Amino acid sequence: MSLADKVNRRFHAAFGAEPAFIVRAPGRVNLIGEHTDYNDGFVFPLAIDRAAYIALRPRADRSVRVISLDMADDQSFDLDDLPRPDETRWVDYLIGVAWALQRGGYPLAGWEGLLAGDVPIGSGLSSSAALELAAARAFYCVGGFNWDAAQMAQIGRAAENEWLGIQTGIMDQMISAAGLEGHALLIDCRSLETTPTALPATTSIVILDTGTRRGLVDSAYNERRTQCEAAARHFGIAALRDIDLATFSKRAEELEAVIRRRARHVISENERTLQARDAMLAGDAEALGKLMIASHISLRDDFEVSSPALDAIVDCANAEPSCYGARMTGAGFGGCAVALVRADDTTGFVRRVGAGYESAAGNRPALYVTRASAGAATIDV
Ligand code: ADP
Ligand code: MG
Repeated sequence: MSLADKVNRRFHAAFGAEPAFIVRAPGRVNLIGEHTDYNDGFVFPLAIDRAAYIALRPRADRSVRVISLDMADDQSFDLDDLPRPDETRWVDYLIGVAWALQRGGYPLAGWEGLLAGDVPIGSGLSSSAALELAAARAFYCVGGFNWDAAQMAQIGRAAENEWLGIQTGIMDQMISAAGLEGHALLIDCRSLETTPTALPATTSIVILDTGTRRGLVDSAYNERRTQCEAAARHFGIAALRDIDLATFSKRAEELEAVIRRRARHVISENERTLQARDAMLAGDAEALGKLMIASHISLRDDFEVSSPALDAIVDCANAEPSCYGARMTGAGFGGCAVALVRADDTTGFVRRVGAGYESAAGNRPALYVTRASAGAATIDV
């Protein structure tokens, strides 16, 4: 039974009727363009085939009630008196979306529904953005406003950044809102312009979850952001997006060594991400894979956000002849890597890399073969 069918049935069991709508919003994996989003640069994610689903129906009053299957919890809130978050509970993501929509002048109405997802939580595939966009879509279904993917992405981001106080770039929400089946999306994080690009034929995308998580991600993330801002300030530009690698190379010595490495990662990663689009347009999986490998090295050595577990799983993947390229993906320090693999060897790749990493690292990884799915939408069941 698909998860969409499951939320449908469980809605029926909980509310004694058919849902009026079922909405879906996906998680994501980033192929290339890491730590570039908050530098106004380019990212190249795809929406994965794992998502948050909400089955819902309108209510006559202005309250929202949501049952979370995954959290085994049932929460309600009043749209006219949104409770401020005191800790980050799952329902605070939905309240934050309501808050951001209200601030944006979107008409809201009450609803009740049932939520479930299969984006693994906290592994860097952005279950949070999936939840935010699913919530936005639920409000859209009952509220009767226009759906603009970029605007809804900004609503989701505002919920997470401003309501919950968790700093993120715009990538996760943008791809969850605007993903396209079979395509990765080149996103210009300054203009929010998106360019859908078909993934090379006869390749598969494999997500490699190391199973490791690290607690210090937030402070390291904030430190990297500050370092990037310092480099931009030094060059008198709004963001590291605004300097090319040739100009940077001439002036790199002006920067202190750590800041120089951080900036070099971001500036070179932006160039790689644009080259990745050209490789994809040419259907050149080899070239795309090489860019992914170079991205990992830059993240490991210049940006210093990899980890022994990520390096180990990336090495296992890259040692496979059927792997075009693998790299860490997401903020880093743990979590997931992503590999571009020859489709006809996907099963063997998954088996061998799973076993190879387990014997090297001592814990079993989770490997997901994924495909590019559509962004947030109302679906039929
Ligand atoms: P991720 O890397 O998966 O985005 P986050 O820590 O940013 O991890 O977000 C995870 C949080 O989002 C969870 O702790 C929970 O509060 C909320 N969440 C995500 N998916 C679900 C879900 N299916 N049901 C309920 N809450 C969810
Ligand atoms: Mg998240």
